[in-house]
Amino acid sequence: RSVSSVTIPPPACMLRPLEVPMRYLFGPGPSNVPPRVLASGSRPIIGHLHPEMYEIMNDIKKGIQYAFQTENNMTISMSGSGHAAMECAVFNVVEPGESVLVAVNGIWGERVAEIAIEKHKPVLFFLTHGESSAGLCHPVDGIGDICRKHNCLFLVDTVASLGAAPIFMDKQKIDILYTGSQKALNAPPGTAPISFNDRACYKMFNRKTKPISYLFDMTHLSNYWGCDGNTVRAYHHTGPVSGFFALRESLAILAEKGLEESWRKHKEVSAYLYKGLEDLGLKLFIPDRDLRLPSVTTIAIPEGYDWREMLGYIMKHHQMEMTGGLGPSIGMVMRIGLMGYNCEKTNADKALHALADALKNCKKSKA
Ligand code: PMP
Repeated sequence: RSVSSVTIPPPACMLRPLEVPMRYLFGPGPSNVPPRVLASGSRPIIGHLHPEMYEIMNDIKKGIQYAFQTENNMTISMSGSGHAAMECAVFNVVEPGESVLVAVNGIWGERVAEIAIEKHKPVLFFLTHGESSAGLCHPVDGIGDICRKHNCLFLVDTVASLGAAPIFMDKQKIDILYTGSQKALNAPPGTAPISFNDRACYKMFNRKTKPISYLFDMTHLSNYWGCDGNTVRAYHHTGPVSGFFALRESLAILAEKGLEESWRKHKEVSAYLYKGLEDLGLKLFIPDRDLRLPSVTTIAIPEGYDWREMLGYIMKHHQMEMTGGLGPSIGMVMRIGLMGYNCEKTNADKALHALADALKNCKKSKA
């Protein structure tokens, strides 16, 4: 048999048409994508280095600056999910031997942060604004000042909170901020806005060692996004053209609607959801209402119920995704996300109806 002959036949699945069900994505993301954003992703592909593409990328940059409330020039989108932005931040500003301080869940008093920064002298302090695993929105005010005092960069993850809860990158002295496309922004997964201020740029462009990733190296990415002052943008990688179209449209919708209105709406709809959940006899996982994340609500698993059975029932009978916990919150909570486009009282009603149905029909375990 010659080496050039095909020995592996075409897989049978590839000879069947693609099937994608319609689902209510009421979990912590991805969220349903509005028709306008979906349509933008099906526009013809253009070259990633065409002038029209640069213009779209410039629009994206402006859209991110608005969404982040920053004037930072070094504002781009990663070609990758939220994790890509997370790794980009860390890979670019941290060198071998340096330490990073990470706030793990729970509430960090300012004083605790200060003590830990004094003790460990980290170059970077990482905080998740919207902690989607617990359904908690972490206060940010004041932490930037502490970080500056100790010459530490302040990195904030807003993957689950951007557009749903207020964040002010410049005013809150956040040095690096990133988000994801697939939550309250309502774009498909796969792109992730990130911004660096001058302090962060100084640190990352004066490092002695090269970042461990070529793809995430901001020296190249800043040129690709036209942020390095160079008029020529060189080829670095092929950006996700359709993903950028969709990201542009999702940022355009946010700009048209306005941040304040988006924050207000998430607050209003989440308050409506809390009331409905309490009326069903369910217990909110975060007791302090002011600390709840408006985009992702966590409820304690009702006593005697099997959460997997409830979620399976809701998916099967209501074509609706809600999810269980993640990491430390597994087995403790169920999560309901109503983000951006999905953030409507009618959707809260649908979620409440599905939960009520599951409570009625999922037999109590013999615990
Ligand atoms: N940070 C937070 C707070 C998140 O909720 C998520 C996604 N669940 C991520 C980071 C990671 O984002 P991605 O899945 O897009 O890589």
